[in-house]
Amino acid sequence: MTPIVDIEKIRTDFPILSDQIFGKPLIYFDNAATTQKPRCVLDKMTELYTTQNANIHRGVHHLSQLATAAHESARQTVADFIHANDAKEIIFTRGTTESINLVASCFSELCQADDEIVITQMEHHSNIVPWQMVAERKGLKLRVVPIDKKGDLRLDELEKLLNERTKMIAVTHVSNVLGTVNPIKKITALAHTQNIPVLVDGAQSVAHLPVDVQDLDVDFYVFSGHKIYGPTGIGVLYGKTAWLDKLPPYQGGGEMIENVTFEKTTFNKLPYKFEAGTPDFIGSVALATALDYISNIGLEQIAVYENELLAYATERMQAIPNMKIIGTAATKSGIISFQVGNIHHYDLGMFLDKTGVAIRTGHHCAQPLIESLGMTGTARISFALYNTKAEIDQFIEHLEHCISILN
Ligand SMILES: *Cc1c(COP(=O)(O)O)cnc(C)c1O
Repeated sequence: MTPIVDIEKIRTDFPILSDQIFGKPLIYFDNAATTQKPRCVLDKMTELYTTQNANIHRGVHHLSQLATAAHESARQTVADFIHANDAKEIIFTRGTTESINLVASCFSELCQADDEIVITQMEHHSNIVPWQMVAERKGLKLRVVPIDKKGDLRLDELEKLLNERTKMIAVTHVSNVLGTVNPIKKITALAHTQNIPVLVDGAQSVAHLPVDVQDLDVDFYVFSGHKIYGPTGIGVLYGKTAWLDKLPPYQGGGEMIENVTFEKTTFNKLPYKFEAGTPDFIGSVALATALDYISNIGLEQIAVYENELLAYATERMQAIPNMKIIGTAATKSGIISFQVGNIHHYDLGMFLDKTGVAIRTGHHCAQPLIESLGMTGTARISFALYNTKAEIDQFIEHLEHCISILN
């Protein structure tokens, strides 16, 4: 395997990275919130609106057919990227949040009162609230798998929670706060011995490590375009055909129908059954462009490179007095949450911003996790393939300066 060779070349693909913030070079360390976009994605969107804009699956005319072909080809690119068995297992949504809401809403129709859904202590609000909402409506119970001190899932506790009432396990692949990479294969193997399906929130994993949904044996896998160098407003739901066939439709409207009369409607086949309304074909094609872009660099290479950044940053940060890193699992992705002495995370974020460093502060949409750690929030840095050790050195210098002012 060849390493990422030319990081400086990669950086020039991202126009925003040459920006200045308050006269300082931008150091963008908030990639877990959203990633920047390479020029090929930006150009693709302009090109499509300029030369190929039409409504898909509807027109007999040339432009509509071009747009339809582009959308369906994007679906195949997504399927190939995550190694799905068939492109019809790829449903385009608005993002991770909508994908989970779709599954929670439709899946709950197959459940009965007192059935149980298992989630974990480290879930993002997107993988808590939709389940809570359907639990309330259908009388289901939510069970929560705890984590240990390092931020690893307690698999022994997960095993104890499973019983004949358990209908679904919904778990994140990578924690957006702790950086923990969860052992998905172990979880699906355990779940499937009891015929329980597993939904994996891939928002923080799909851009940072190779994902093979068949090898992981996940029943549902979801992610957002904007966290994988694609545009906002487009996302993916992967589901095994058998499960997607079993679920009732989500929203009603155009595209998802086969035949409509005022008395009765029959529904379209997969994947269209779940894509009501005009699909965002500009979004899907731009997402496919982003996936092609990182496939060319190589997901293995990206994972190795970002792990180097993680190790280097962790080592440098640990040398700072009163530094506490939150999340020290053995297998982590490029996310570091931290607290320095009694300095408020928000103050750190504000001061670092003035030095051109973009970090995240607060509860990171994982309030139950943060509160269970006895905190109100953390400061968080998170890496993407275009970050460098030189940026980490700059960040450490700025951080030490901020600490000296705030202490
Ligand atoms: C960002 C994120 C989400 C939500 O993604 P949206 O793009 O806001 O729908 C869900 N889960 C995790 C782990 C995330 O990091």
